[in-house]
Amino acid sequence: MKKIRVRLTLAFILMIGFSVTAAGLFTGRLIEKSHMDSLKESMLRELQIMLVTLEPVFQKQNTDLQRLVQQLKLSADARVTFIGNDGKVLADSDHDPQTMDNHLNRTEVVDARKNGVGYSVRYSQTLGQNMLYVAVPVMAGGTVQGYVRLSMTLEDIEAAVFQLWTGLVLGLAVLFLIAVVISSRIAGGLTRPLEKITQVARQISNANYSSRVRLDNKDEIGELGQAINMMAESLQFQVRRITESESRLKTVLDNMASGVVMLSADGDIVLANRAAEKLLGFSERELLGKKFADIYVHSGLSELLERFFAQAGRIREEVKLHFPEELVLEITMVPLFHAGETLKGAVVVLHDITRIRQLETVRSEFVANVSHELKTPVSVIKGFAETLLKGALNDPETAASFLKIIYEESERLNRLIADILDLSRIESRRVALTFSPVELRSFTEKIMETMAPEAEKKQIRLEWEVPENIYIEADEDRLGQIMMNLLANGINYTPKGGKVKVQIDLLENENAGQERVRIVVSDTGIGIPKKDLPRIFERFYRVDKARSRSSGGTGLGLSIVKHLVELHHGKIWAESEGTDLGARFIVELPVLQEADAESMQVRDGHGEEDSGH
Ligand code: ADP
Repeated sequence: MKKIRVRLTLAFILMIGFSVTAAGLFTGRLIEKSHMDSLKESMLRELQIMLVTLEPVFQKQNTDLQRLVQQLKLSADARVTFIGNDGKVLADSDHDPQTMDNHLNRTEVVDARKNGVGYSVRYSQTLGQNMLYVAVPVMAGGTVQGYVRLSMTLEDIEAAVFQLWTGLVLGLAVLFLIAVVISSRIAGGLTRPLEKITQVARQISNANYSSRVRLDNKDEIGELGQAINMMAESLQFQVRRITESESRLKTVLDNMASGVVMLSADGDIVLANRAAEKLLGFSERELLGKKFADIYVHSGLSELLERFFAQAGRIREEVKLHFPEELVLEITMVPLFHAGETLKGAVVVLHDITRIRQLETVRSEFVANVSHELKTPVSVIKGFAETLLKGALNDPETAASFLKIIYEESERLNRLIADILDLSRIESRRVALTFSPVELRSFTEKIMETMAPEAEKKQIRLEWEVPENIYIEADEDRLGQIMMNLLANGINYTPKGGKVKVQIDLLENENAGQERVRIVVSDTGIGIPKKDLPRIFERFYRVDKARSRSSGGTGLGLSIVKHLVELHHGKIWAESEGTDLGARFIVELPVLQEADAESMQVRDGHGEEDSGH
């Protein structure tokens, strides 16, 4: 910017200097010439006055010319010379005419002869000065008699002209200085807005997009400022849009359930979202810049990557990780191409399918178990029916006992199928619980009444201890199913003469606000070995297969109970001191149901399981 200002100033100065000098020279010359002209004019007038008296003088030969020139010199205040028509000097006021050359060829004389008047400026050796000569011819009877010449020194004029020149130069110098100051200011006025614009442009390039040019100029510079402002505005808008979409993208990436990792063409990690951090067990900072293949050297990931980069096509594969936890990941690798040709990198999507794989295993085990459980009664029924067909029918007593077995086994088959259906419905959350207030004492009495005949059959005493007026929110039928299942087990696994007891208590606010009810079903029966305690809620798990079978159990009861308790947002566990020391089943349920069944599904992460049905 400084440079433009200096250059502009210089240009102004040059221009002004040039025009000022030209103007000076012109005026100087003009004045000089006018001085000269007026001098010439006055000398000519003087000569013309002289001529009137001189004409007769020239014709008389004897006149004392020398005296006359002296007189004339006094009146004209200039040197006077008389020259004959042959060029001979007749008289001179300042010199001896005898010593002077012939003057016929002097410029002023030549011009006078030709034009009637002649001028000449010459340096006079005699006087050592510039002189002005003016000559006119003296006429008599139509012929030239001679010439009279006036000469005057130019000293005075030259002095005046010199003074004029000095004044002019000084004045011009002052003018020039003023011009320099003014032009520098004008140049500054031109470049200052440009400086402002440059400053704003610099700020914009430093990402300060809110910076604006503030100029009042209505000229092209003002337009430039406006253009810069418009550019800044559009930049600001674009940058904001990019930032917004970037943060939107980041939010999406970070809230995705699947892990997303981006790789460079060399296999370096350049981006990893939150899910990927969690799945791989490293923070993004630890992951960035690392080779993806180096993260889990032994997991088969590196081979997968090698294959991917070799074929540069989409790959989908399952990989098992053993750290940070056992995980089954479905890895999808999609190549990214630059301009549709060179491989630029890859997007790796990690999908945690551990639970899906686990569920698949559980399901296939369940199917195997169900088939096995179904096979037993079916083969019993088939065996006895065959025996009957082969002739046992003929013995009515045997036939009756066989038919009884067939009946019992089909009953058992029926129960088994009913339990399987019930369990599958409950597990897949296809049962909608209808919660309503249940008064526990009357509820328990009703259940006990239902169970009484079975207990009596085995001579087992039923006891219950339930405080009055405890209400809980529950699905009454399902709560009944829970109680009856636990009571039936108590009766089943307790020998004759034993006791099964139900005790219900309100647990006061042990953790602020959440009131809970504890239901304990205990018996004096065969008990459960400690090692089996954690497993009895599994499907088809029985401590003693034969005993469970003889009592008509399906091995699904406790499984169903556990699921129903969980649908009520409660928990259940079993306690036993060991064989023959009886068993205790403890159920804890919240008094109020706060969350509905659906939100619970989401919380547990069972959602995907359900959606499959
Ligand atoms: P089952 O139909 O065989 O009773 P459950 O799921 O109800 O199936 O019970 C699973 C197993 O837990 C039973 O086979 C039994 O071994 C054990 N069990 C359940 N309740 C009791 C109890 N009150 N006393 C002892 N063992 C029990």
